[in-house]
Amino acid sequence: MVKNILSELKKYNLLGRSGSGFPTALKWELVKKAKGEKKYIICNCSEGEPKSFKDKFILENYPEIIIEGIKTALNFIDNSSAFIYLKKDYYTKFSKKLKKLIKGLPVEIVKKRGGYLGGEETVICQALEGKRIEPRIKPPYPVESGLWNSPTLVNNAETFYCIGKIAKKEYQRTRFYTISGDIKNRGVYELPEKYTIKEILKETKNYPDFNFFIQSGGGVMGEILLSKELDKQVQGIGSIVVFNSKTDPFNLMKEWSQFFLAENCDKCTPCREGIYRINEMLNSKKIDREVLNDIFLVLKETSLCPLGSNAYKPFETLIKKIIK
Ligand code: SF4
Repeated sequence: MVKNILSELKKYNLLGRSGSGFPTALKWELVKKAKGEKKYIICNCSEGEPKSFKDKFILENYPEIIIEGIKTALNFIDNSSAFIYLKKDYYTKFSKKLKKLIKGLPVEIVKKRGGYLGGEETVICQALEGKRIEPRIKPPYPVESGLWNSPTLVNNAETFYCIGKIAKKEYQRTRFYTISGDIKNRGVYELPEKYTIKEILKETKNYPDFNFFIQSGGGVMGEILLSKELDKQVQGIGSIVVFNSKTDPFNLMKEWSQFFLAENCDKCTPCREGIYRINEMLNSKKIDREVLNDIFLVLKETSLCPLGSNAYKPFETLIKKIIK
């Protein structure tokens, strides 16, 4: 086992695998230094992005390594206890096994409330406190005032997997990629984190022999990339969705806007109204580029939480690169 976990997290420059890519060591330090008699740790297994199954894959295959990561966090943060926050079907599938693994540890297993938004860190705090499923205004950030106003460390299942591996000196600088769409070998693959998208598609025998584009990074929130733009790493939650170039871009955008319409919480005007207007334009098939660009800007700059501030990305990149 490693002696100083913080310096190991720094050495590997481990970035959170929930999508935001926040440096894990910095988050741990902030929670450790924050004032508070009681502190909480949350292992986020809420995985709400369509076409992303990497956390499910890890829970299925390596639950003991996730628990090793949580145990490491409990040892690092004084007076702490932890929650494993599981998407509803993951709760049904994995809670029995996890209960066995957490025996003797101050860890509770909880079923997720709400849909996609239920995985946002402040929404998890709301849910665990039995409150309405909506994001809190940040700051304060959970690291200083999260669950019951106490310093709270929220890391995703894959991040805890990496921490567990680092603690056991087995970390190989890999990450999990969910590959889906118009390909043959759909699935979750563990490969080096430095691989480019092109390398991942080739290594998994998924590089298409037809004209295609991909959505990279955050499932439905990911940006659109053309086949000539794949010499870069996947960002966000590591998902790659491959589309045949014959895909109808309007149908695709409608699919996204329906998702955002269903999953946003209506709390803030830019997101509530912006997504409604995008949906309206798509339904009427009349896109006013100028208005749309204004909506994108407002969504990006003024939405209260990542759902709204990232929702513009797939639309903007698809229109720019595919519709033109
Ligand atoms: S950005 Fe959307 S999901 Fe987030 S708080 Fe505002 S309305 Fe709710």
